[in-house]
Amino acid sequence: MKNDVPSHLLSGSDIDGSIGTVTPVPITVAAGDGIGPEIMQATLKVLQAAGARIAPETIEIGEQLYLQGHTSGIAPQCWDSLRRTRVLLKGPITTPSGRGYKSLNVTIRKTLGLYANVRPCVSYSPFVATRHPKLDIVIVRENEEDLYAGIEHRQTDQVVQCLKLITRPGCERIIRYAFEYARANGRRKITCMTKDNIMKMTDGLFHQVFDEIATGYPDIQTEHMIIDIGAARVATRPEQFDVIVTTNLYGDILSDIVAEMTGSVGLAGSANIGEHVAMFEAIHGSAPDIAGKGIANPSGLLLAAVMMLVHIRQPDVAARIHNAWLCTLEDGVFTADLAGHASSRLSRPFGSMDFADAIIERL
Ligand code: NAD
Repeated sequence: MKNDVPSHLLSGSDIDGSIGTVTPVPITVAAGDGIGPEIMQATLKVLQAAGARIAPETIEIGEQLYLQGHTSGIAPQCWDSLRRTRVLLKGPITTPSGRGYKSLNVTIRKTLGLYANVRPCVSYSPFVATRHPKLDIVIVRENEEDLYAGIEHRQTDQVVQCLKLITRPGCERIIRYAFEYARANGRRKITCMTKDNIMKMTDGLFHQVFDEIATGYPDIQTEHMIIDIGAARVATRPEQFDVIVTTNLYGDILSDIVAEMTGSVGLAGSANIGEHVAMFEAIHGSAPDIAGKGIANPSGLLLAAVMMLVHIRQPDVAARIHNAWLCTLEDGVFTADLAGHASSRLSRPFGSMDFADAIIERL
C-alpha cells in the first residue's frame, strides 16, 4: 500500500514557505479533552520521530477553560497564538448535548473563517475489513453556515426555532474550493448533495451556485443528488462517488457514516481551511466512553497531521509518516476500535502509544 505522495490527503491550500525548509514552522497545538490528550501525545511522538520541522506552541482549550470561567472555552491569548502561527493541530473537544455552553468547534471555525472542511475517507482493504473495499471519497463540507451555526431562538414556551442561513458568497467559496480541490488532486467527479426539493431557497441556492460554477470546470464530471437518496447510495455503492460537496450539517453526518464504513470513525482526519488560518483535526469527537484508557485510535488525528504537513510544505515528512502508518496496518497492527475489522494474527489490540511506537518502527 505504499503511497509516495498522499494526494488524497492534500488540503488544496498553501501557506507561505518553501519545500525543504529547515526552519521549524511554528504551529499551535491544542490537545482538547476526552481522548484528545492521549491521541495528541501519540501523534506528536510520531511527528517528532519522523523529523517534522515544526515548533509547537501549546494552548489549552475546552473543558478546563470553561471551568476557569472562560465562557467561550478559549483564553484570549490563545487567539494570539493562532493568528501568529496560522496553523492549529487540534484534539477533539466535548460539547454537552442539549444544554450548556456553545460549541467551541463552531466558535473556532467561524472566528478564524475556516470555510472548507475537507474529509477524506478511504478503505484500507484487505488490511482493514470493510464491505466497501473500493471506497475512496472526499467530503468537502461547508463549515460556517447552515443549521450547524447553531443560531436558535425561543419563540414561545412551546416553540423554538433554528435559523438555516445560506449565503451566495458562502456557497461560491466552498463550491469553487471543491472544484479546485478536485482538479489539484486528480479527482474526476463531484456530487453536490442538498435537499432543495423541500428547502427550495436555502438548499436551492447551494444547488444553483453548484450548477453555475460547474460550467467553468468542463473537465470535472458533475451530478446533483437529493441528500436522502444520495446518503443511501453512498451507504450501498460508495465506489460510485469521488468528491461530495454539501452543506455543513449534511456533511457532518455523512462524513461520520463514510468513515465508519471504512472500518472506524477513528480512521479519518480533516482539514479546516480558511483564507489565513488552517486547522487540522480528527473527524471524531472526544469519545468520553473510552477516555483515559489509552486505547483510542490516534489514526484520525495522525492523518490530519499528515494533511497539515502537506499544508506547511513538508510533503516529504507527510509521505514518510503516511507510508509508515499504511505499513503498520498492513502488518496487522490495530487498535481496539478495529478489532473484528483487522486482518491480523495478533491476539490483542494495541494501545494508542504502542500503536504510535509501531508506526515509528516503520518510519
Ligand atoms: P465520538 O466521535 O466522540 O464517539 C463515537 C463513538 O466512536 C464512541 O463509541 C467512541 O468510543 C468511538 N470513537 C471515536 N473516536 C475514536 C477513536 N479515535 N478511537 C476509538 N474509538 C473512537 O462521538 P460522541 O460520543 O457523539 O461525542 C462525544 C463528544 O465529542 C461530544 O461532546 C461531541 O460534541 C464532541 N465532538 C467533538 C468534535 C470535535 O471536537 N471536532 C467532533 C464530534 C463530536
